[in-house]
Amino acid sequence: MRPFTAITRGQVRTPSTGYSLEMNPSYPFDPELHQPGSTAAGGRCSWHGTEGTVETECEGEAVVSFQDQQGKWQSGCQRALEELVDRGQIEPLGQSA
Ligand SMILES: [Zn+2]
Repeated sequence: MRPFTAITRGQVRTPSTGYSLEMNPSYPFDPELHQPGSTAAGGRCSWHGTEGTVETECEGEAVVSFQDQQGKWQSGCQRALEELVDRGQIEPLGQSA
């Protein structure tokens, strides 16, 4: 166990923005966690379509499943995963395994 683990639950203050965020656990992508027929259930990245930086649907393959700030299941491609971890919104994939 690294000391870092202590701050992966609850409120995390990010130096760059100054406001605190909930950090959610991340899981290896599992289509069964997502609503049938949704982008995520189809193995695609849903995060870039809703909250992300591109307007068109992300072409990336989903590699991670996680719950967003509203508790809604989202899937993310590799880029989404890296960005979310960077922002401190989700844990790095496989950290708790
Ligand atoms: Zn994406």
